[in-house]
Amino acid sequence: MATTPDSLEEVTLASLSTENLYRELLSRVGEDPTRDGLIDTPKRMAKSMAFLTRGYTMDASEVLHNALFDVDYDEMVIVKDIEFFSMCEHHLLPFFGKAHVAYVPNGKVIGLSKIPRLVDMFARRLQVQERLTRQIADAIDEAIDPQGVAIILEAQHLCMMMRGVEKQHSSTTTSAMLGVFKSQLQTRNEFLSLVRRVG
Ligand SMILES: [Zn+2]
Repeated sequence: MATTPDSLEEVTLASLSTENLYRELLSRVGEDPTRDGLIDTPKRMAKSMAFLTRGYTMDASEVLHNALFDVDYDEMVIVKDIEFFSMCEHHLLPFFGKAHVAYVPNGKVIGLSKIPRLVDMFARRLQVQERLTRQIADAIDEAIDPQGVAIILEAQHLCMMMRGVEKQHSSTTTSAMLGVFKSQLQTRNEFLSLVRRVG
């Protein structure tokens, strides 16, 4: 029976363990994967990659389970300076920074500790900063149907800092504004001034 080179390669790659793929990768960059310092590296890389992309195994309804509460409160809820670490989908290099999350409730709130978990769930996937920003906003919007949601992400991208342009201090800001944060200038400005306040 004839086997085409293409299908042969497919079967071979898919049947390799993640560890073996990383071992091959180490050879390709010119290293000797059998030397002492590298012997366990493929195992560590596989484990690390699984951790850094664990967001794929989670969804918002699971994260927010039992953490949505009925309230009689319609002032802005704001959670500032949420540290996040993600990986850019173009280079698989980290980007990281702070997320600021706000919403104006419409009868329901989210348990405060769940907001950072929600950010983390989307950050632990291959991302672009714009989509990450939008996904956090949409998830909150869907979960509690608030009067509005606002998200700001400030991040540094190692793919910009370590390679190519090497802009060491550049940071990228993205935002998503829904509902009253989009339609009411006063609400949006209140959020922006709260985010910019030091401490
Ligand atoms: Zn990149």
